[in-house]
Amino acid sequence: MSRATEQLVYLVAAVLFITGLQRLQSPATARNGNRISGVGMLIAVVATLLTMEIVTPMVIVAGLLAGSAVGFWMARTVQMTAMPQMVALLNGFGGAASLLVGGAEFLKSELRAEQIPLDTGITIQLSLLIGAVTFTGSLIAWAKLQEVMTGKPIVFAGQKALSAALALAVVGLSVYQLMTAESLLWPFYAVCAISLLLGILLVIPIGGADMPVVIALLNSYSGIAAAMTGFVIDNSVLIISGALVGSSGIILSNIMCKAMNRSLANVLFGAFGAAGPTKSLKSAAGLSVRSVSPEDAAIQLAYAQNVVVIPGYGMAVAQAQHAVREIQELIEKRGGEVKYAVHPVAGRMPGHMNVLLAEANVPYDKLRDMDDINPEMERCDVAVVIGANDVVNPGARTDTSSPIYGMPIINADHAKSIIVLKRSMAAGFAGIENELFYNPRTSMLFGDAKQSLTKVIAEMKQL
Ligand code: NDP
Repeated sequence: MSRATEQLVYLVAAVLFITGLQRLQSPATARNGNRISGVGMLIAVVATLLTMEIVTPMVIVAGLLAGSAVGFWMARTVQMTAMPQMVALLNGFGGAASLLVGGAEFLKSELRAEQIPLDTGITIQLSLLIGAVTFTGSLIAWAKLQEVMTGKPIVFAGQKALSAALALAVVGLSVYQLMTAESLLWPFYAVCAISLLLGILLVIPIGGADMPVVIALLNSYSGIAAAMTGFVIDNSVLIISGALVGSSGIILSNIMCKAMNRSLANVLFGAFGAAGPTKSLKSAAGLSVRSVSPEDAAIQLAYAQNVVVIPGYGMAVAQAQHAVREIQELIEKRGGEVKYAVHPVAGRMPGHMNVLLAEANVPYDKLRDMDDINPEMERCDVAVVIGANDVVNPGARTDTSSPIYGMPIINADHAKSIIVLKRSMAAGFAGIENELFYNPRTSMLFGDAKQSLTKVIAEMKQL
C-alpha cells in the first residue's frame, strides 16, 4: 500500500471515529455509533498491519479472530455492574500498549545506534510516562472497584511530596536522556519504573465516590498516551484516535466533576477522596422509618397523576429495569404520567441508568436530566426511588461535613410522597446515612427491587 493510499485509508477511519462519537450523543443512535467506530478501528488496524508489513495476512486474520472472540466473550459475560472495572482494565491495556510501543521504538534506535530526533525523543518520553501511569493507575482502579483491595483512600504522611518528587525525577531523567549524547539505558528503565510507581501513588489516595472521575481521567490519559505513541511511530490515525479519546475523556471528567461538585484541578492534584467516605450525615438514633407494603405502594401508584422514577445502582443489581417499564405502562394506562430522573453519577458508570432503561425499551423522551426534572419535583405526586441512595441524599445540600456535600442531587424529597425500594437501611456507595429515608413523607418498600416491583405489578393489575 502506497503512503498516499495509507493516509487516505486513515482519513476514512478517522471520519468513521468522529461520526461514531457524534452518534454516541443519544441513546437512540449510540449502538450504531459504536459499530461505526468499530469499523473505523478495524480498517485502521488492518491498514497499519498491511502497510508496515509487520505480519503476514494470515496472522492478521488469526489476530483479528482471536481478539474479536475475546472481546465478544468479555462483552457478553461482564455484569453491567462490573462495567467500570472493565473500562478501567481496557484503559490500562491502552496505557500498557503505549508504554510498550514507546519503549520498543527507543530500544530499537539504541540497538541500531541511531540518533533519535529531539521531537521523537520527547514524544517517546511522554509515551513512557503517560502510558506507565495509565497502566498501573488503571490496575489500581480496577482492583479497588473489583474489591480485590480496599476501596477506601490509602494515605500516608508525605505522600503528595513523594509523588511530586517522583514526578520531578521522571522529568529530570527524561531531559537527561534527551540531552545526553551517550547511549544510556538506565535513565530509560528508571523513567519506566518510576512512572509505574507514580501511577500507583496517584490512584491509591482516591476512593469512595471519587472513583468515577478517576476512571474518566485515566481514560483520557490512555488517549493522550496513544496520541504520543502516534507521533513516535508517525501514525496519523493513532494521533487522531488518541486525541479523540484524550479530549473526550477530559470532557467526561469535567462533566463528572461538576456532577460530584469537584473541581478538575482538585482531581488532577490528587488531594481528593482522602477524607474517607465513612462519616454519618446525621445520627439516625431516635428517628423512625415507615415501611409500606406492595399493596399500599400499588394503590399510591395507581392513583398518582405525576410519577417520577429515580433509578440508582440497586436497580442495576436487581436487574429491575423491565419491571420498572411494566409499572410505567400500568400507570400510563390509568392516565398517569411517568418520567425518569437520571442523575449523572447514578449507578457505577456514566450512562449506566440510560443503558439499562434503553435495554428495557423505555422511550428516550421519558428520560430527564437532573437539571430538567428538579424544578418539577414539587408537582410530583410520587417519587419512586429504585435502588438509589447517594444521588437522592438531601444531606448533600446541607451537611458541610458530609463526603458528598455540595454534590447536586435529584430532589426526591420535594415530591408530595416518596417510595424508596431497597433491601435494608444499608448505606450506598459513599457509605453514609440518608435522611430522606426518615422523611415523614417517605415510605420504605423493603426487599429486592425486582421482587418488590413484581409484587406491586401484580397488585396494580388487580385494582
Ligand atoms: P448508591 O450506591 O448510593 O446506593 C445503591 C443502593 O441500592 C444501596 O443503598 C442498596 O441498599 C440498594 N440496592 C442494592 N442492591 C439492591 C437490590 N437488589 N434491590 C434493591 N436495592 C438494592 O447508588 P446511587 O445510584 O444512588 O449512587 C451512585 C453512587 O456510586 C454515587 O456515590 C456515585 O458517586 C458512585 N459511583 C458512580 C459511578 C458512576 O460513574 N455512575 C462510578 C462509581 C461510583 P440495600 O443494600 O439496602 O439494598
